[in-house]
Amino acid sequence: MIGCECGTCRSGDPRDRRLRPSVFIETADGKRLLVDAGPDLRAQALAHGITRVDAIIFTHGHADHILGLDDVRRYNHVMQQPMALFGDARTLEEIRSTFHYVFNPHTAKGGGVPQLELFAMLGPFCIGGQEIVPVPLLHGQRPIFGLRLGSFAYLTDCSAIPESSWPLLEGLEVVVLDALRERPHPTHFSLSEAIDASRRIGARQTYFTHMCHDLPHAATCARLPTGITLAYDGLRVAVGAAD
Ligand SMILES: [Zn+2]
Ligand SMILES: [Zn+2]
Ligand SMILES: [Zn+2]
Repeated sequence: MIGCECGTCRSGDPRDRRLRPSVFIETADGKRLLVDAGPDLRAQALAHGITRVDAIIFTHGHADHILGLDDVRRYNHVMQQPMALFGDARTLEEIRSTFHYVFNPHTAKGGGVPQLELFAMLGPFCIGGQEIVPVPLLHGQRPIFGLRLGSFAYLTDCSAIPESSWPLLEGLEVVVLDALRERPHPTHFSLSEAIDASRRIGARQTYFTHMCHDLPHAATCARLPTGITLAYDGLRVAVGAAD
C-alpha cells in the first residue's frame, strides 16, 4: 500500500508483494484466457511471460479490474486480431465509458488504440472447447460474476454467495475465493467469512485472493485450516479435470 510502513508492506517475502487480482487460464485445448485486466496487467504479463491472450472475461467493472485494458493493444499486434471481451451489461458499459477514446469513431486508428470486441455474458458460454459458467455473486449491493471452468472456480470480490449460486459450485477441485482482511468489510469477505464459505464449497483446495496488507502471507497461512491457503502473485495451479 502506498505510504504504508507496516510489516507486510516492508516484508522481504516475495509473496507479500501483491499486484492487483487477476488470473490467467490455459484451457485443455490451448486457449489462453485472462480474467480481468487490472492496472498491473502489463507488469504481470511481462513478469509471467503471458505472450498471448485469446479472450478476457470480466468479473465486474471496478477500476482494479479493468484499468489495464489499454495495454491489450500489444496483444492485438502480436495476434493480429481484436481482443474478445466478455462481461455483464453493466461492466461492458463501464468499459465503454472508462475507455471512451477506444469507442469514439473520431479517434485516429492505429497502434495507439486497442481493438476490442465486446460480448455480453448472458449465461454459460464456450471459448474453444472450454465451457465457462458465470456464477452470480454479491459484491456489497452489486451483483457481479465469479467463473467456473470444469472443476475450477474463481470467485473474487464477493461479500455473499446467493443461495441460487451454490448448486453451481458443487464438485469443485480448486476454488479461488475473496478474503480481504480480518475485520468485516461491506463489499468483501472477511477471513472468517471466507473460511466459512470455503467449508461449504468443500473443494479439495481453496486459495484466498484480494488480501490487503492486514494479512501477511506466512503468518496468515500458518493459522489457516488444512486445505486453505493464501494465493500469491505468480502461483501456478494445475487442475486435473477442467473440461
Ligand atoms: Zn501496509
Ligand atoms: Zn470490486
Ligand atoms: Zn477488486
